[in-house]
Amino acid sequence: MRKVLVMEDEEYIREFVVINLKRSGYDVIEADTGQKAMEYIDTVPDIDIAILDVMLPDTDGFTVCKYIRQRSQTMGILMLTAKTQEMDKVTGLMSGADDYVTKPFSPAELTARIDALYRRVAMSDKDTKNEISCPPFKLNTKSRTLYKNEKIIELTQVEYAIIKNFIENPETAMSREEILNTVWGKDFFGELKIVDVNVRRIRKKIEEDPAEPQYIQTIWGYGYKWSIPAQG
Ligand code: CA
Repeated sequence: MRKVLVMEDEEYIREFVVINLKRSGYDVIEADTGQKAMEYIDTVPDIDIAILDVMLPDTDGFTVCKYIRQRSQTMGILMLTAKTQEMDKVTGLMSGADDYVTKPFSPAELTARIDALYRRVAMSDKDTKNEISCPPFKLNTKSRTLYKNEKIIELTQVEYAIIKNFIENPETAMSREEILNTVWGKDFFGELKIVDVNVRRIRKKIEEDPAEPQYIQTIWGYGYKWSIPAQG
């Protein structure tokens, strides 16, 4: 469910925001102080959006905004500012907020802004989920591209499928039969040698020294294992 944190100390404004968000199908977490908001940021998983009031009794919205940005680049942040605080909009955006709404606002305005922000968050979330990171490698499962140190490694579709299977199962011994079944399908009556041939080709593309492979380890008499060398 779409989850929103609402940080606002004035109870009637908070209630107004909460009721309208719930009506629009959001799951809402309420905080009446900056301290509580930061606690929720650390303890509640999968918050999509934070609505932050600027003026609070214990801290201010910008501090909480920065606190969130140190932990998440993808969470949507909308600031609630008062009309007299024109400068706050600039400060808010500088602290990492995505948008702001000036008080007083209508329920329709707030919901429209939150919906728009949520769509952006959901999109960027999908983008990051299309990527499997395994330094120095990165696999984009949407474009079916492998990167090593941000450089594209040209792969055939079969090589890509083998690498994907490896990266998704690190440090796992995989028999050649398993690899053959996963990549070529159970109905493929090919020889196991085809796995070896492809692995040899992939090693040439990704290993520093294909004769001394670091990433794709051979398990003699069995198959292969994707290994991640210790960094540094
Ligand atoms: Ca306030």
